[in-house]
Formats: sequence, structure tokens, C-alpha cells
Amino acid sequence: MDNIFENTEHAFALKSDSELERARFLFRMIANEPLVRIGTAVTNFAIKVHLPVEGLIRSTVFDHFCGGVNEEDCMPVVEKMFSKGVCSVLDYSVEAKEDEAQFDAALEKTLKILEFVKEKDSMPFAVFKPTGFGRFALYQKIGEGIAFTPDEQEEWERVVERFEKVCKKTQEMQVRLLIDAEESWMQKSADDLVERLMRKYNTKRPYIYSTLQMYRWDRMEYLKEQHQKAKEGGYYLGYKLVRGAYLEKENSRAEEMGYPTPICASKEETDANFDSAVHYIMNNVKEISLFAGTHNEASTKLVLACMKEKQMEPHDQNVWFGQLYGMSDHISYNLSTNGYNVAKYLPFGPVRDVMPYLIRRAEENTSVVGQTNRELELINRERARRKL
Ligand SMILES: Cc1cc2nc3c(=O)[nH]c(=O)nc-3n(C[C@H](O)[C@H](O)[C@H](O)COP(=O)(O)OP(=O)(O)OC[C@H]3O[C@@H](n4cnc5c(N)ncnc54)[C@H](O)[C@@H]3O)c2cc1C
Repeated sequence: MDNIFENTEHAFALKSDSELERARFLFRMIANEPLVRIGTAVTNFAIKVHLPVEGLIRSTVFDHFCGGVNEEDCMPVVEKMFSKGVCSVLDYSVEAKEDEAQFDAALEKTLKILEFVKEKDSMPFAVFKPTGFGRFALYQKIGEGIAFTPDEQEEWERVVERFEKVCKKTQEMQVRLLIDAEESWMQKSADDLVERLMRKYNTKRPYIYSTLQMYRWDRMEYLKEQHQKAKEGGYYLGYKLVRGAYLEKENSRAEEMGYPTPICASKEETDANFDSAVHYIMNNVKEISLFAGTHNEASTKLVLACMKEKQMEPHDQNVWFGQLYGMSDHISYNLSTNGYNVAKYLPFGPVRDVMPYLIRRAEENTSVVGQTNRELELINRERARRKL
């Protein structure tokens, strides 16, 4: 068990030598903080003024972190990963859109992906982001208790309708759906909405999974409260457990606006909070299903240890592991080799529209220096192994 993630042959079995070289090049670039800062600014500018940089982005970061520009493009990647037992969660990663046509397009994509989920074992979940279905400002207004104008009220009803359509179809098709979590100042209204939908549609099984960001110090209490409500209401909970992707934004907003940050005071506190949630869910795993969305080896091992302690089979459907495409293959492929349920988020969308997602990945890998170094160390070991 201790060395489960060390096998680089399994981890990189699907990567050709040239793909391995590209990954090495990319992670070396990403490890360089000033380069990422400058690169991000230059790329944003180039896209804004319509410079022809898409080809360059596509052949570097985009192809490493994304499956393609549409769902059809992703299919060969999905099949390839599934040949090694790793599933995909097709993630329409077009972000920061503000108009109704885009929200409807995201809804249609999600409904279409639910059909794939029904048909294909290689795709066990669909996913969407709350702000993919409605304007950020609306979620924020509700969270802050600010009244809507009549137009906003109608607009919000359309957002609720989109959530409702996807969740209803998920339950009718008896498949599973993940709903992502975003910035804390919009998340309250999304949480309330998802709570209502879990109560309505998770009565037989946990079809709908919400997301808990454990870098928030209030999430353990929230989890326990939700569990109590679910027990009383007679429905199942599903949670994707993550640490959280908006750390700097959260802390700087709190500081600027003079309220206590919702984020744990240190990485260690976030880690401890994440572990507490793993223990809590695993102790109640018949009522709360887990999707452990993490690249952290210790966290993954903790879930494995809990499964062992509870004598759960590796493929027990109540526990899934998830990583992002392009990251931590040593975790994904070694888990699948050992029979565990694992699915990688596979983002897709037009190159310029997935830029916010790509920039988050670059910044995340820069700020988690240890993790980038770990990726590089494993890639280097695999290169050496292949040379032998
Ligand atoms: C399948 C999947 C789905 C995801 N879905 C979401 C989602 O819906 N919403 C979302 O926000 N994120 C999501 N993420 C991203 C996730 O939140 C993390 O940003 C990312 O996975 C890195 O965390 P880690 O657990 O892999 O581990 P690590 O690399 O061990 O931890 C890094 C994380 O620790 C936290 N951290 C770092 N420094 C500090 C500090 N000083 N104080 C407090 N905390 C700190 C931050 O959250 C940081 O991202 C998802 C990730 C995966 C793999």
C-alpha cells in the first residue's frame, strides 16, 4: 500500500516519449513563478486584442490540460484513458460568461453529457459549475440578502430551472452528477439550491453530488448540519471533497473588505480539515458518498486506509477518486491498476474560452511548488526507466 503511487510505468503508460517530453517542458515552465506571471499577462493581452496565439496555446498548455474544443474531440482521449481503467468527467470549461445564450448552451452540453454517462461506463459522472448556469452577481445578491429587481427575479428563476432540468434528468436516468463549488461570496445561494435538489432527487440513491471546499474553516460544521438534515429528511448526500481553488482571491477580498477570511489560517489547517471530512464521510459512507477530488497523495492514502478499515471493495460505488486531466497521473493510473474507481476531469471548450481554467491550473501548479516538483521527479524517473 505504501508505494502505490511510485510506479511510473503504470502512471505514464499512455504517454509516448514525445508527450512525456512535452509534459516535462511544461511543468518546468510552470514551476517558474515570474514566467507564469508574465506569460499569463501576455496571453491575456494577446487574446484580448485577437493576436493569433491560439495555435501556440493549443499545442502547449491546452493539449496537456484539455481534451479538445468539443465533446467529439475528447472521445479518443476518453477511450484511451479507459483502456487503463481511468474514467472521464467531461467538463465544459467555458467560464466567466454573462449571457443567457451561453447559460443555455452550457445547459444543453450538460444534458447531452448525461446521455453519454447513461451509455458509457467510461463516463460515470456529468458536471457543471453554478456560474455556468447563471450570472455570478445573482448568486452573490441572494447570499448578501439583497432584493432582486423584477427582471433579476425572472432571470434567477431561469437559473433555478436549469439546475432543476439537469438534476431531474440525472435522477430519471439514474446516473450521477457533480456540481462544482466556486467563490464563497456566491456559494451560499448555490449550496442552498443544491441542498433543495439533493432533498428532492437523492431519495433512493446519491445521484447528485455537491462540493465541499475544505480550505474553508466552516465546512466541517456545514457537513454535519447537512448530514443531520439528510437523516431527518430521508435522503442521501453525495460530496466531492476538494481543498479549494480560489485561495488568493478569497484572502485578498476579505482583507480589502475588512471581514474575517473564510479560509483556514494555514495549509496544515486546511489539510487537517480535509482529513476530518474524510473521516466523517467514511464513517457515514452508507449515507454520504464520496468523490475525493485531490492530487494530494496523503489524502488519497487516507481514503484508501479508511476503505481498508471498513473492509470496502476497491470498486465500491460509494467512493470515487478524481484528478484533473494533465495532472497527477501517478495517482490516477496506480489507483485504477489496483481496482479503485477513478475519474479524471477532462475539460473542453474553445481555446480562448477555457483560458481562465488554464490560468488557474498554471497558477495552482506554481503556488504548489512541491506538487510540480513531484510531477517533474516522476517524469524524470520514467524517462530514465525508458532509457534503460
Ligand atoms: C477532480 C477535481 C475537482 C475539483 N473541483 C473543484 C471545485 O469544484 N471547486 C474548487 O474550488 N476546486 C476544485 N478543485 C481544485 C482543488 O480545490 C485544489 O485546488 C487542487 O486539487 C489542489 O489541492 P489538492 O487537494 O490536490 O492538494 P494540495 O496540493 O496538497 O493542496 C493545495 C491546496 O491547499 C490549499 N492551501 C494551500 N496553501 C494554503 C494556505 N496557506 N492556507 C490554507 N489553505 C492552503 C489550497 O486549497 C490549495 O489549492 C478540483 C480538483 C480536482 C482534482
